[in-house]
Amino acid sequence: MRATPVTIIGAGCAGLSLAAELSKIENSKVKLLGRPSPAETTPHVWGFWRMDWLEEPTHQSRASWSKWEFLAPDSAVVRQESTTHSYHALLSTDWLGACRRKAQTTQFEQIDVDGPNLPADEDTEFVFDSRPPELDEPFMKQHFLGWEIKTKTPAFNPSVVRLMDFTTDQSRGIHFIYLLPFDAHTALVESTMFSFTTEPNSWYEDAITAYLSDQLGVTSFNVQRTEKGCIPMAFPDRPHSRYHAIGGNSGAVRASSGYAFTFIQKQVKQIARAIATRADTQSTIAVRSPHRTLDRMMDAVFLDVLARAPKHAPSLFMKLARALRGDELARFMSGTAGSAIIIKIIFAMPKGLFLYSAVRCCANAIKSCLAMPLKGQIK
Ligand SMILES: Cc1cc2nc3c(=O)[nH]c(=O)nc-3n(C[C@H](O)[C@H](O)[C@H](O)COP(=O)(O)OP(=O)(O)OC[C@H]3O[C@@H](n4cnc5c(N)ncnc54)[C@H](O)[C@@H]3O)c2cc1C
Repeated sequence: MRATPVTIIGAGCAGLSLAAELSKIENSKVKLLGRPSPAETTPHVWGFWRMDWLEEPTHQSRASWSKWEFLAPDSAVVRQESTTHSYHALLSTDWLGACRRKAQTTQFEQIDVDGPNLPADEDTEFVFDSRPPELDEPFMKQHFLGWEIKTKTPAFNPSVVRLMDFTTDQSRGIHFIYLLPFDAHTALVESTMFSFTTEPNSWYEDAITAYLSDQLGVTSFNVQRTEKGCIPMAFPDRPHSRYHAIGGNSGAVRASSGYAFTFIQKQVKQIARAIATRADTQSTIAVRSPHRTLDRMMDAVFLDVLARAPKHAPSLFMKLARALRGDELARFMSGTAGSAIIIKIIFAMPKGLFLYSAVRCCANAIKSCLAMPLKGQIK
């Protein structure tokens, strides 16, 4: 059987996950263009809810929880539970290392290039491009700094993840603490913001220190490692897409939440399936967006609400959490919510705020359609 030569640009989450997935196809031949990602050598956590397309990451995860909670000032704690869709923390080094080992079981080479001039390869049948997309400022970002800490005395409840705790300083934008308790003494504590501008490291560090002391009474701890990130909460309109765009480049990062890992895995499986099952070597394949149109529309409206009324964010997230059961929230966050869940969410949200944003989003969509040159129009 003839090999299917594939080139992948970018050796991050999407690039290496796709290379690993393609290695399951008989006679696959992959050329990966790009330097090893820092996430392969320095660990950070990928959080996701267990879904049927995430069997391998689920098994490799460092920890999992069936309970999670949301907190905000002047509000009762919302705690949810799901045994079918548990929440998992996977180390980037574990996942990318395993992907590389799988890829190396077939014809695989990585070429250490970085820049616009990529070596052409006449032999390649498909090129997948995971270089990050270009986005026009201003756009909302999820930016964060987290410390994995160890305390001398027990400080954490290892059975419950704190997905969002808004009992924090809201003066610079939407701000919450994300806390993954690995055991009673060890946790990843992340100061996370949704806003248009990032903050200096000291800002997040002070927020974590204050949170540990004020909310948990922890004043003495060791920082084991730090993780830091800035994820666009926007829809990329200019992907590097002379080729098939994948990963963040194809809009895989869910704009309203910053979650991407689950969608990237869904996408690379779809691509590998399409290649493995195509009728003949002349057939092309289509790379589908890992997000449904309805989810993208809801995200656009939600982001508009957050941008216009950031002070309402804590109450909106609490309302969302209160309206859904654990399974339902997991499915909504993973892009598999059915109509009953969507209706629950719509009913839980304040109508005025959301209707106004829905109208604005429709008007913007019409404006961009009208601004597009018609087919055949002379520029
Ligand atoms: C610290 C951190 C924590 C995160 N936590 C979560 C989480 O808990 N859950 C979740 O779902 N998502 C999370 N995300 C978001 C998301 O999963 C990641 O951003 C994911 O890595 C996106 O994958 P990607 O392959 O599209 O992009 P990347 O992983 O960024 O890969 C793109 C690759 O392209 C390379 N590249 C760029 N330019 C060139 C060039 N010219 N030539 C060759 N290569 C090039 C880069 O070096 C990079 O390796 C997190 C992100 C970060 C940074």
